[in-house]
Amino acid sequence: MSPDCLFCRIIARQIPAKIEYEDDSVLIFNDINPQAPVHCLVIPKRHIAGTGELKQAGQDDQLAGDVLFKAAAFARSRGISDYRLVVNNGPKAGQTVFHLHVHLLGGRNMTWPPG
Ligand code: 5GP
Ligand code: ZN
Repeated sequence: MSPDCLFCRIIARQIPAKIEYEDDSVLIFNDINPQAPVHCLVIPKRHIAGTGELKQAGQDDQLAGDVLFKAAAFARSRGISDYRLVVNNGPKAGQTVFHLHVHLLGGRNMTWPPG
């Protein structure tokens, strides 16, 4: 728990969110400003600022695998076969919340390249 972190505060239920899935390691909730009919954020419960801070040692491999695997499992459970997973790392890449999160976007056709 990082007390000044918005997503840690959502995990701690200090800030409300529409939670879609929760287990010991991840939380999945709806983005407050959805960019697609389905727009969820998949976050690890353990605070880490972004992919730039992932280390090979320790348990970060488990954390990284969990968010990806559980995003895919969640999409499958909702019958969403075509979706986009997005991770922004750093302000110039569009990261605004510095708690690692995977955007799960679906329910519409996606274009490439992203903006
Ligand atoms: P980023 O820009 O860091 O990749 O993504 C942050 C995401 O968090 C944005 O899509 C933004 O809409 C979402 N967001 C920001 N504040 C809140 C909030 O208070 N609640 C929820 N559910 N989503 C938020
Ligand atoms: Zn956090």
